[in-house]
Amino acid sequence: MNKNMFASDNYSGVCPSAWQALAEANRGFARAYGDDDWTRRACNALRTFFETDCQIFFVFNGTAANSLALASLCRSYHSIICHELAHVETDECGASEFFSNGTKVLLVPGIAGKVDLEAVRHTVERRTDIHYPKPRVLSLTQATEVGSVYQPAEMAEIGALAKALHLKLHVDGARFANALASLHVTPAEISWRAGVDVLTFGGTKNGMPFGEAVVFFNPCLAEEFDYRCKQAGQLASKMRYLAAPWVGMLKDGSLLANAAHANAMARLLAERLVEIPSIRLIHPVEANAVFVQMPSALIDALHEAGWHFYTFIGTGHARFMCSWQTSAAEVEHFSAVVKQLASQHDR
Ligand SMILES: *Cc1c(COP(=O)(O)O)cnc(C)c1O
Repeated sequence: MNKNMFASDNYSGVCPSAWQALAEANRGFARAYGDDDWTRRACNALRTFFETDCQIFFVFNGTAANSLALASLCRSYHSIICHELAHVETDECGASEFFSNGTKVLLVPGIAGKVDLEAVRHTVERRTDIHYPKPRVLSLTQATEVGSVYQPAEMAEIGALAKALHLKLHVDGARFANALASLHVTPAEISWRAGVDVLTFGGTKNGMPFGEAVVFFNPCLAEEFDYRCKQAGQLASKMRYLAAPWVGMLKDGSLLANAAHANAMARLLAERLVEIPSIRLIHPVEANAVFVQMPSALIDALHEAGWHFYTFIGTGHARFMCSWQTSAAEVEHFSAVVKQLASQHDR
């Protein structure tokens, strides 16, 4: 068994339906830079998926999707409000600040990776003078960095707050499919109907080789976004290969099925791990991540046995990710390994 498989969902391969679509897209010639049928079909499939006439752009990765989307909402003297654990803040090397020419990111706390709404309100209202970077965007992550999911009621409340505070609403949806599969709601309900202006919709972690869709529900905000992508080196000349997996995975339903499977594997893993007395869950398992506290000796023993996973969220905290490719047998095997090592340490 591959001992890297629980490190991240982007350790997975390409799912069959994305691969199949790529093979079909590979027949012969097609127009370049997005002026092709695959890109048109992918945009139309996403419009159907979201039940609205949105503007869609395909870029190579999530950092580009987030930072270019945010830059398109902001001027350099604005600010972006996000959770202190947000990928935008912690894992994008300052790309949002860079592409927006210096827009400041303001951090708010919140339990289970979700922004605390009072803290958002305070961040906006504590200053109204010209010396403070003008709050302009609220950026959320759905599913969150710690594997929780904003409920439809929470999204509606956040949308209303953003509107009241005159903030645009951005959602980092690197795992948006996992959130949808978890909530059993329509994509519209937790996006534009809740007031989301721009969604960065992740494909890579859900079975595509690469590619994220930037979805503008507010078309005015998409103005000149194509230039932004080009200047940032994100306009693929062979765009059909970024677009085709979306066509394939939306058509046969694997986009949601993959996410539902990853979520189910995470729930199974969580169930097994909490059977071990020295392990406890530190965040609700609502998507495809399992965050646990376990003795550091057990973490060391797993690492020594060759298992690769991340512990960047504090000592004694480990993160295990499941993907479309994780099987129940692999979860059972890994759980048995953890159980066995834990019992050695308890002795
Ligand atoms: C993985 C991830 C991204 C995208 O990261 P890239 O490595 O740039 O593709 C964005 N947001 C979140 C929350 C992620 O987990």
